[in-house]
Amino acid sequence: MSEDERKQVLGGIDAGGTTFKCALAGLDGKIIARKRVPVNGPDLTIVAVAAFFRGAMATHHATMTRLGVASFGPVDIDPASESYGTILDTPKPGWALCDLRGRLHAALGVPVHIETDVNGALLAEMEWGVARGCASAAYVTVGTGIGAGIYTGGRLLGHPVHPEFGHIRLQRHPQDAGFPGSCVFHGDCLEGLASAKALQDRFGDPGLLPADHLAWEIEAYYLAQACLALVLTARVERVILGGGILLAVGLIDRVRTAYDKLMNGYVKDRATAELITTPGLGDDAGLMGGILLAMRGSEG
Ligand code: ZN
Repeated sequence: MSEDERKQVLGGIDAGGTTFKCALAGLDGKIIARKRVPVNGPDLTIVAVAAFFRGAMATHHATMTRLGVASFGPVDIDPASESYGTILDTPKPGWALCDLRGRLHAALGVPVHIETDVNGALLAEMEWGVARGCASAAYVTVGTGIGAGIYTGGRLLGHPVHPEFGHIRLQRHPQDAGFPGSCVFHGDCLEGLASAKALQDRFGDPGLLPADHLAWEIEAYYLAQACLALVLTARVERVILGGGILLAVGLIDRVRTAYDKLMNGYVKDRATAELITTPGLGDDAGLMGGILLAMRGSEG
């Protein structure tokens, strides 16, 4: 089969700290093939990622024209920067100053577009998910750390850097006094109080906590304050709460209840259940973000 007869496809990666989720997709964004590649340091990970894409292209008689990556951070997302696509200072072994974009480009020979994982997930939710048709939205990921992307006024807020919303300060829950917080920079900032690590530090494995544990009441109080800050400042139409912690049964409802109490009817643009929500694309938000970056051929 000649090169002309092969169909053109796109590649997407949700580059997480422990897994790279990779997919080959049609030009319409529909996934044709996918694979989870465990992270094993840059060398082995990139070899495995490239092997997946080459194999999938061969199986589907397709040629990948562009690759989009929604990446863990910190990462340089400024296309005008000399180090665009480079992982910056990170404790992950081998990844600090890894030129992720350059190495994927060298391995696969296609243009590579890169964004933060939260910005990628946010853009995908605005294209295909719960924020479809919205002019503004925020995506907050609650995992080991807490990160947020905000889209308003036709662009990602803060680009080519990104908000550090995970480190805002909060009011303490009365039954959570005494915990110093787990952020190495600020102690009891949002991330220091509400990340998976913060939960682990004072209550043990969050996955083992019963749904009626006080920990969830406290967690909901902090996440509700985060939602309140986003709505009061950026007046976003959606606050999408993603990340592993939001899989806890009933947590999103607790956040909505706490938010209503704190907002006290002051801003009521839309119903809270519509405003504060989990990702419509579920666990695939970041991966679809990668594919969307490839579709658009640029950041944002
Ligand atoms: Zn902090």
